[in-house]
Amino acid sequence: MSETTDKTRCLIIGSGPAGYTAAIYAARSDLKPIVYEGLQPGGQLTITTEVENFPGYPDGAQGPQIMEDLKKQAERFETDVRSGIITRVDLSTRPFKAEADDGKTIFAETIIIATGASARWLGLESEKKFMGQGVSGCATCDGFFYRGQDVAIVGGGDTAAEEATYLAKLCKKVYLVHRRNELRASKAMQHKVFNTANIEVIWDSIPAEVLGDESGMTGALIRNVKTGEERTLIVTGFFVAIGHSPNTEIFKGQVELDEAGYVITIPGTTRTSVEGVFAAGDVQDHHYRQAVTAAGTGCMAAIEAERFLSSNLT
Ligand code: NDP
Repeated sequence: MSETTDKTRCLIIGSGPAGYTAAIYAARSDLKPIVYEGLQPGGQLTITTEVENFPGYPDGAQGPQIMEDLKKQAERFETDVRSGIITRVDLSTRPFKAEADDGKTIFAETIIIATGASARWLGLESEKKFMGQGVSGCATCDGFFYRGQDVAIVGGGDTAAEEATYLAKLCKKVYLVHRRNELRASKAMQHKVFNTANIEVIWDSIPAEVLGDESGMTGALIRNVKTGEERTLIVTGFFVAIGHSPNTEIFKGQVELDEAGYVITIPGTTRTSVEGVFAAGDVQDHHYRQAVTAAGTGCMAAIEAERFLSSNLT
């Protein structure tokens, strides 16, 4: 191997709960995994604040702290964690070939794709400003902090509908703000939304601004796209549920993806359309999207990689 070339039994791409859990299991199975951290080291938990639903932290913990702990645990078993991005893969023959932005070419006997998904945002400056101080991309994660308060949620898909009904159980009032005059969500989810007394749907409207001051968020300015009329909602929580984009650009044409770009895995497994390539976490899951489910599938992927290698002794 030259200085710019490495060989590994298991290359893990991505460093969220799925990637690091896969690394812990793969390293303890002696696969000597290499992890490339990717664009957002630590993944989506690093852009949240308090996390109260990750098992093992009875008093809750900061998202970045949990990821630091997971990284340390992976490194304890000699995972080779590298900061950098895999820019290109060739999955047509084994060992698979991956090129990184640090100039390295990695030849890997197995690959675990754990590149996650990125929440889509509205793109408002004020949305960025109050991120984690009222603005959130996950009601299941952060809804609890707004118990008894008034909140708004943006979007018209199944996620927005599901999260609105979830929030309605915790919060006093939920405004569901949607840019059109009908929801994209399934009829069953729509039915729930329309039959929940404390959800008010605001049709044909988009958020123009998240409002707030030094103390945090205080409300949201909503604009009707048909009439131009504006309305201020007095809310302390503002949830954005306008979809996620899986980070699968480099895998297009190499591994089977669904129409939304998520990696397709064989149900009940993390196996993909390419033997020896596994996928874990949000990159293959648009349903649960929780740190703990990502960690669970990371564990599955490492076990499956280890078994694959044992049955394909090379
Ligand atoms: P979707 O892409 O289905 O919906 C996104 C919603 O956000 C749409 O209503 C869209 O409006 C709106 N939107 C997009 N961009 C903007 C913007 N810039 N400003 C304002 N509104 C915007 O994403 P979901 O996360 O809801 O769902 C993803 C997939 O996961 C779907 O296939 C869904 O069915 C599935 N899912 C299933 C669940 C279940 O079965 N229980 C639960 C959650 C998700 P418009 O409608 O006008 O395009």
